[in-house]
Amino acid sequence: MPAPGKTKIAVIGAGIVGISSALYLQRAGFEVTLIDRNEPGSGASFGNAGALAPHAFVPVNSPSIPRRLLKLMFAGGSPLSINWAYAPRMLQWLMSFLRHCTQDEVVRISHALHSLLSRNLEFALPLFKDSGADRLIRGGGYLHLYESDADYRALGTEIGLYKELAGDVEEIDAVEIRRLEPNLAPVFSKALYFTSALHYLSPAEVCATMARHFCAQGGTLLRDEVTGIDKRPDGKLLVSGTEARVFDQVVLSAGAHSRRLFGKAIAHVPLETERGYHVVFGKQGDIISRTCSSATAGFAMTPMTEGLRCAGMVELAGLDKPPNPACHAYLERTARRLLPDLTASPSSKWMGFRPSMPDALPVIGRSSRTPEIILAFGHQHVGMSSGCVTGRIVAAVAAGESSPIDIKPFSPDRF
Ligand SMILES: Cc1cc2nc3c(=O)[nH]c(=O)nc-3n(C[C@H](O)[C@H](O)[C@H](O)COP(=O)(O)OP(=O)(O)OC[C@H]3O[C@@H](n4cnc5c(N)ncnc54)[C@H](O)[C@@H]3O)c2cc1C
Repeated sequence: MPAPGKTKIAVIGAGIVGISSALYLQRAGFEVTLIDRNEPGSGASFGNAGALAPHAFVPVNSPSIPRRLLKLMFAGGSPLSINWAYAPRMLQWLMSFLRHCTQDEVVRISHALHSLLSRNLEFALPLFKDSGADRLIRGGGYLHLYESDADYRALGTEIGLYKELAGDVEEIDAVEIRRLEPNLAPVFSKALYFTSALHYLSPAEVCATMARHFCAQGGTLLRDEVTGIDKRPDGKLLVSGTEARVFDQVVLSAGAHSRRLFGKAIAHVPLETERGYHVVFGKQGDIISRTCSSATAGFAMTPMTEGLRCAGMVELAGLDKPPNPACHAYLERTARRLLPDLTASPSSKWMGFRPSMPDALPVIGRSSRTPEIILAFGHQHVGMSSGCVTGRIVAAVAAGESSPIDIKPFSPDRF
């Protein structure tokens, strides 16, 4: 392996994962080019709920999902929806997702995600501080709210895992919920309060600030749509776009688009997208003080610079279909129910693509077919809380050094 200083690396995709990778590779001494077809932080890293949440390790693969699936998909007014025309194309992914909805799998996945999320701040805070993005991060904790004791009891496995692993969780009642967030409708009987969670005031601006820092430190940021990666006979990689560029290694961090971009070499990696939505109520950002998520309603609300952002939903409909207005309507209607003082119409609406694996674990590691390519995608619901530690791991893998955490659970070859 050539010394970092002589190694040219391209990072494809400037979301939170790609930017963090670029910064840690740069710190390690590599010559780094970051390539995105759009502005940095304009994919899933733009429109998320903004929680920087070390506790978000319990996967969506709940053991209760197989039992509730039909109701969730057909009930209407639910945070989960599926486009039936697209469903046959993701049948294998869905079957695999359901196979991971067992108690044993939830425990295994939670421990693996916890190993990643619990180390994220250690690697995120230095990047935020050095770039100046720390001014866009706030504390205050995270409230995970339940509308009935039955809802709370139904999630016994998940709650047990939070209590076992989170380290900062308090179980609070309706009185304490109202003390912390007086503008919430009095519909919640219980909450888990994760006291050390943070949130982003603007996830996109954090990404943009980090990308500017990368450039100021001598990194190259290119705006180009990558159309292919090919290995030359001399072992170098040819990255095609509006022009062809040659690199020693490539980090593939194009989020949900990674498979489309480099299909052949990662054909066995079952990357899909869970589409997510947000609505923003401008100027009402101060209606709550921290991220509040409703386990019952299935989405989160975060006070941001632009206003109150209500973000969530899982829509299984692939990368090409236009946004579904019913998802925005669900968020708007339910946010008004949970926060009756929301008066104005939404000031903006968004839909984007979570990169999701059926076992809710990201893919981090070298491609076995083309080892010069490092795969770093699939962070599904928790990329804003695990992207920076992923960047640090990518730099270790690129340098042939040992990773700060065990990456076996995230192996591209686990499927
Ligand atoms: C509604 C919603 C709410 C969420 N809430 C949270 C939350 O509260 N906390 C949390 O931790 N996580 C949350 N997430 C998840 C988080 O946003 C994602 O896991 C994370 O942003 C993924 O980052 P990424 O860098 O892998 O992908 P992205 O941010 O999608 O970046 C991929 C980049 O690749 C670029 N790209 C793609 N194809 C090409 C190409 N051919 N050539 C060049 N560039 C290309 C894209 O332009 C894009 O910029 C949420 C997600 C959604 C959708």
